[in-house]
Amino acid sequence: MTVKTEVAVIGGGATGVGVARDLAMRGVDVTLLERGAGLNAGTSGRSHGVLHSGARYAESDPEGAADCLQENRILREIAPASIDDAGGLFVRLADDDPDYFRRKLDACREVGMEPTLLDAQELRERVPDIAEGVERGFAVPDGVVSPARLVAATAASAREHGASIHTDARVADIDAGTGSSKRLTVRVDDGPTIAADAVVNAAGPWAGEVAAMAGAELGMRPTRGVMVAVDYADLGPVLNRCREPADGDIVVPHGEQVVLGTTSVAVDDPDEFERADWEVDRTVEECAAMLPALADAAIERTYWGLRPLYEPDELDRGGRGISRDFALVGHDAAPGLVSVVGGKLTTYRRMAEAVADRVCGDLGVDDPCRTAAEPLPGADEPERLDELVREFGAVGPADSDVVR
Ligand SMILES: Cc1cc2nc3c(=O)[nH]c(=O)nc-3n(C[C@H](O)[C@H](O)[C@H](O)COP(=O)(O)OP(=O)(O)OC[C@H]3O[C@@H](n4cnc5c(N)ncnc54)[C@H](O)[C@@H]3O)c2cc1C
Repeated sequence: MTVKTEVAVIGGGATGVGVARDLAMRGVDVTLLERGAGLNAGTSGRSHGVLHSGARYAESDPEGAADCLQENRILREIAPASIDDAGGLFVRLADDDPDYFRRKLDACREVGMEPTLLDAQELRERVPDIAEGVERGFAVPDGVVSPARLVAATAASAREHGASIHTDARVADIDAGTGSSKRLTVRVDDGPTIAADAVVNAAGPWAGEVAAMAGAELGMRPTRGVMVAVDYADLGPVLNRCREPADGDIVVPHGEQVVLGTTSVAVDDPDEFERADWEVDRTVEECAAMLPALADAAIERTYWGLRPLYEPDELDRGGRGISRDFALVGHDAAPGLVSVVGGKLTTYRRMAEAVADRVCGDLGVDDPCRTAAEPLPGADEPERLDELVREFGAVGPADSDVVR
């Protein structure tokens, strides 16, 4: 059976559902294909879940940081019940470089934040267990976002606007249009064949494999990072270590637990990669430098996520993935296929807007983006959101402790 659609979106993570919602709101007929049994099966469900203020990237990538700040504000408006307004602290310990602290602080101000400077005493009032060695810090508008709720609500909105959402739909092959037909043909394992005017490859760390199905090249260089959820109640703000990016520099509050992260290790195969004990040990040890009680806290679960990093960008930046900015890539070998890679959960709506602008330009659709102005379904109803999460099978390890 062949199903016709205007745009096929491959991947049901934040980026894919974001693209489906944006296009559907502009009146485009969209079919989304996700290989997992539920949505949110890839990196989106395996992140720290920080709603970045942009402070983390302010000095290394001011544009990306400004995007984060803007999207942070938008998501609080359109998806309040997916967000915990925890706030964030950047803390400098005695051995950390004071010049880096100053650079970060200045850079935060330059991108439009108003960080509040705090001395050791004020930091201790906010986080009583903070390390003795803490010297200074500042507060920023970080938050904590539930990827499961955000992805499910975005998918529900896409569906309300006419998109078809399919899980258990692994794309196995893509034929670029030939001869007079510019249509692309997308084959799904044990499923229908989709004939589409355009195809969006939003397959995250698997985007290189998906592009290759269409005979196109996409130099992906995924890196893995571990997250360790431990018992520690009522932390309050997201704790960030204020130093050059390194292993184990973030602690994210999750009610009765905190999630510690992370590492960055290159991975060849996104389906088969090592999960090393040293990553867990180092992450706990480094995070305990900020919050000593973590050293002995019971580990509740560990999980790994894969950054969908685009190689040309990464090589320019020395490989550690200092920026998590995104790339939109067209392919001469497969006209009509657009790949979108990189980025952050925080900026998923902005990435989707850029993709939809491009695809709509190609299809001759003039409608503007409306995703920043219209609240998501269940925007301020946690119970409704959790129903949607269950319906779309979207619970991931990032917030399996939070979503009821
Ligand atoms: C360790 C780590 C921590 C992070 N922490 C944060 C954070 O705190 N805050 C933040 O803003 N960002 C964070 N990020 C970044 C963020 O999570 C990702 O950039 C974002 O979630 C990527 O979403 P995506 O939809 O592009 O990819 P994914 O979520 O990976 O979605 C891709 C989807 O494509 C599907 N797929 C793959 N192949 C096929 C196929 N052949 N057919 C059909 N479907 C297919 C997959 O199953 C998957 O569901 C973190 C990333 C990592 C790795």
